[in-house]
Amino acid sequence: MKVIVVTGGVLSGLGKGIAAASIGQLLSKNHVVCPIKLDGYLNVDPGTMNPVEHGEVFVLADGSEVDMDFGHYERFLGITCSRDSSITMGKVYSLVHERERRGDYLGKTVQLIPHVTDVIKELILSASAHADVALIEVGGTVGDIENEMFIEAVRQLSQDVGRKNTLFVHLAYVPRPGWLGEHKTKPAQQSTQLLLQRGIIPDVIIARSETPVDDTIKQKIARFCNCSLVISGHDVRDVYTIPLNFASQGIVETITSSLGLRAEHPDAWQSILNQSVQATEELRIGIAGKYTALEDSYASVVEACRHAAAHLGVRTSFVWIDTSHTIDGLKIADAVDCVIVPGGFGGRGIDGKIEIIRACRENNIPFLGICYGLQLAVVEFARSICGLTGAHTTEIDANTPHPVVDILEEQREITQKGGTMRLGEYEAQIIQPSIVHQLYGQDRVSERHRHRYEVNPKYHDILSSHGLVFSGMYNDLVEFIELPNHPFFVATQAHPELKSNLDKPAPLFMGLLRAALHQERS
Ligand code: GLN
Repeated sequence: MKVIVVTGGVLSGLGKGIAAASIGQLLSKNHVVCPIKLDGYLNVDPGTMNPVEHGEVFVLADGSEVDMDFGHYERFLGITCSRDSSITMGKVYSLVHERERRGDYLGKTVQLIPHVTDVIKELILSASAHADVALIEVGGTVGDIENEMFIEAVRQLSQDVGRKNTLFVHLAYVPRPGWLGEHKTKPAQQSTQLLLQRGIIPDVIIARSETPVDDTIKQKIARFCNCSLVISGHDVRDVYTIPLNFASQGIVETITSSLGLRAEHPDAWQSILNQSVQATEELRIGIAGKYTALEDSYASVVEACRHAAAHLGVRTSFVWIDTSHTIDGLKIADAVDCVIVPGGFGGRGIDGKIEIIRACRENNIPFLGICYGLQLAVVEFARSICGLTGAHTTEIDANTPHPVVDILEEQREITQKGGTMRLGEYEAQIIQPSIVHQLYGQDRVSERHRHRYEVNPKYHDILSSHGLVFSGMYNDLVEFIELPNHPFFVATQAHPELKSNLDKPAPLFMGLLRAALHQERS
């Protein structure tokens, strides 16, 4: 068993997830890599957290709600992760308490060390039992109180599996203040000292900076931090070039010599990336939501657009439409080439989203609705086309005269909030001919879900008799809708962005961007 641990220093938000995913990608051709995320918060999972605070909630195929870094792992490694890979302090403490109540620790004082650290190690080992490499990302920054037990547990783990089977990678911010015009290494040195105090000597330091870090600075960091390899982790236009950037600075050789693993330069993405580098044409993609303050809230939607754009040889720019303000649909329609209304919850921004959907429908602007986006497209269609005045989703208006979107039957009795939605992968039956069938080229389509509401079966007839096509169903649950006689008006109850990657862009995003490109050229 080999262990690679990625820690972060100086600042949070440096991109540890992408760094870990990039290292994993270099190994994934020859080894089974199991990414594991250790998160210090006491929530059992991030499912109930605000995306503006925490970034998008990613949903795995098995229905677990996990940190957005799992999106990077799955996209970079081309794998499907499992719920066991997400280890939060909330999960760890729940387990410790369960065991304590059961009497597993009879006679003992239950303590952070060894009881909590033992549970962390046990969870890491059982999650990665099938793998050659456990790729462990420690959330937060070294020195944070809340991840101390994780740092201690990975230190012990390296002792257990043997130091020669462990590689510690530390991602540290190396600032280049404008008034000095040069990179400064002190913060990286000090965050490395925090690691050393905890008994961990980093083998590799990734010097994270806005601009490339030159050899002199790299050597200085190597000397002061006592580490053999320092890599410049500078900003790049396209995150998918990062594995290649790391590889070009010697990480492959370090992994090979220190762990005896076979790491390889990735080549599969090269031609797709070249195409996207050469692209000159740009598509303006409008994303309408209430969490637009933080792009990370819609991370997978943005990535799915980038995957499709790379395949179509175009660039993307994102127009963030904050629907919590009053919206002029037509003005927005002018400023974008297509619109996505992504998933969401609650009432804020709802009228703006409905207004944008109307503008797209009436003005032939390519539109993709995701989850809430489908539900609101149905509300808009019911009001404008079926004449159902006041139609709404009961999530917002429990007394609407026309509950065209209503709570799922199985959700009615549920009172607990955490992990209780309809979650994970479900297979829809696709009708033929339809745009959705044409895009997927399959009769059955599996996508991931995260919702409590659905299109009310009592309204199926009236909606479809007015021209709304239900192009995919899961029993009587509407999974895909579309409008014929529109350049592209498609929505899904699922989250197809979660399965998109650079090798295999999500078909609905391909359809949306292709339609936008076509409109733009005609
Ligand atoms: N709020 C809606 C529901 O719970 C949509 C959820 C979503 O967009 N993920 O059904």
